[in-house]
Amino acid sequence: MSTPLTLRELSCADDYDPNSMPVDKARQYIGTFLTPVTATERLHVRAALGRVLAEDILSPIAVPGHDNSAMDGYAVRFDDLSADAPVTLHVTGTVFAGKSAALGVQPGEAVRIMTGGVLPIGADTVVMQEVVTKGDGTVTVPPLAEAKLRARGINTRKAGEDLKVGSVALRRGWRINPAELGLIASLGINEITAYRKLRVAFFSTGDELRSIGQHLGAGEIYDSNRYTLYGMLTRLNCEVIDMGVIVDEPAAVEAAFATASGMADVVITSGGVSVGEADYIKSVLEKLGEVLFWKIAMKPGRPLAYGKLGAAHFFGLPGNPVSVMVTYYQFVRDALLTLAGQTRIPPLPTFKATLRTPIKKAPGRTEFQRGVFAQEADGAYAVTVTGDQGSGILSSMTQANCFIILGPATGNVAAGDQVEVQMFEGMV
Ligand code: AMP
Ligand code: MG
Repeated sequence: MSTPLTLRELSCADDYDPNSMPVDKARQYIGTFLTPVTATERLHVRAALGRVLAEDILSPIAVPGHDNSAMDGYAVRFDDLSADAPVTLHVTGTVFAGKSAALGVQPGEAVRIMTGGVLPIGADTVVMQEVVTKGDGTVTVPPLAEAKLRARGINTRKAGEDLKVGSVALRRGWRINPAELGLIASLGINEITAYRKLRVAFFSTGDELRSIGQHLGAGEIYDSNRYTLYGMLTRLNCEVIDMGVIVDEPAAVEAAFATASGMADVVITSGGVSVGEADYIKSVLEKLGEVLFWKIAMKPGRPLAYGKLGAAHFFGLPGNPVSVMVTYYQFVRDALLTLAGQTRIPPLPTFKATLRTPIKKAPGRTEFQRGVFAQEADGAYAVTVTGDQGSGILSSMTQANCFIILGPATGNVAAGDQVEVQMFEGMV
């Protein structure tokens, strides 16, 4: 994959303003520097859940393999039935699921058939058992409309209707979710080739941070960002390397960056990228690689760093816990999916809902408020804001089930207005 610009060239581009970087532009810039992993491994089908296919999967068989019944009922010849009058047919046998009929269906005959049973030769239609009247060795089928038989072939499934022999069942670059696992199994395939997992190293920076199990001194806080990052990265099926808390000292930060970039495809840090503060992070990174520092026109999540440390991609997220999650979902998630080899990355779905609580907002930047989305009694989609929206208030994320996204042009929003909502579920 060719990159149109180097990071250095980008930072000299005419419309490049690191101090007021629109969300979309930052996303677009990051997208131009992503080179997916190429190494692959063979995996048993179950171990492939959540992995990215490194090969097209062609169907070695037709699915289903035979014309078969979609219902419990009677296999019949459509031409035997009548649009105006009931027809009585002789029942000559029974076909169970997975079994072939030894006998065919001759004119005037029917065969009792279960769902999945192979359609006997001569039969082309299945009559549901619920609509017939059973006699002694016979079955009476009502007129076509009453028997819910619109056309020949009703209640049957055709050989190859799901997949034909040799057709592409799944494509390289698709993520293997439960449906894909089932489809692979339906083809009788028990091993696939996937890209290797993306290795992501991360650490927190800040003298005030303590890890779980340590005593909290005055002014100190527990490091929560490593846990949200661990959770988000694990759900994305990355191989995570937790490097702990790194103190605000140039030598310690430099050593951590050197170690991380040597063993991971991606390095993620939180904290220390705000303006003015801990400036040596910038100088350390300039020494080790090419890193761009941006003030994104968004709230929360204003400071963000992105670049390359050797072959590794680097994301420097802000320190505030909510900002970490917002910037991860808006900038890092899709980048990681691309780096992991995934080619089909549908944008996170957003939709409109009626705002039930007013929001004060100045135009100019994109805001990601935390909301509770629900369907009201009359069926309307509505969303309310979860209390205080400070970027340090992580409980606003646990109470919410969605982001309310207010674009740069939007000012104050009144109760009753339509707003854009992005559900957390599905963000993975
Ligand atoms: P910084 O970006 O380093 O200026 O941090 C901004 C705010 O986020 C400060 O209040 C930090 O204490 C807080 N913070 C930074 N890193 C973490 C972390 N890993 N866990 C919880 N809070 C953090
Ligand atoms: Mg800090």
